[in-house]
Amino acid sequence: MIRIGNGYDLHRLVEGRKLILGGVNIDHHLGLLGHSDADVLTHSIMDALLGALSLGDIGHYFPPSDPQWAGADSMVLLQQVHQLILDRGWTIGNMDNVIVAERPKLKPHLPAMIKSLADTLSIEPDRISIKATTNEKLDAVGKEEAICAYSVVLLYQNT
Ligand code: MG
Repeated sequence: MIRIGNGYDLHRLVEGRKLILGGVNIDHHLGLLGHSDADVLTHSIMDALLGALSLGDIGHYFPPSDPQWAGADSMVLLQQVHQLILDRGWTIGNMDNVIVAERPKLKPHLPAMIKSLADTLSIEPDRISIKATTNEKLDAVGKEEAICAYSVVLLYQNT
């Protein structure tokens, strides 16, 4: 048995916030705005994991209205979502992600993001693909007002 899920998230880029992607703190003059640490890649991955098993979305488990999640480390939230998957007898086969950001250049940071996610999920790094692209200066992402991420994850059932 296999299941597939997809995820999408977008956060606004503002001054005075950290830029955290895949649990990696990236030096940049702008950061992502959100109730938690606003790690848009990790949120997208969580929604893909939940979607694969029809378990709803992260807003259901970690509502922005709940002060408990203010400033939350998204990698901790990812561990909790992953545990839901493991508890149901499923394992991550692989995931493929796209981050869309005009700046900063993300390619140099992709290996660190892969390692961070692989360590958090206790899976081999080669099960995780992360690609970075720009929006060709178009729309909010292209005007550096936001960063978004897309994820596809495949799960297989343990036998
Ligand atoms: Mg989010």
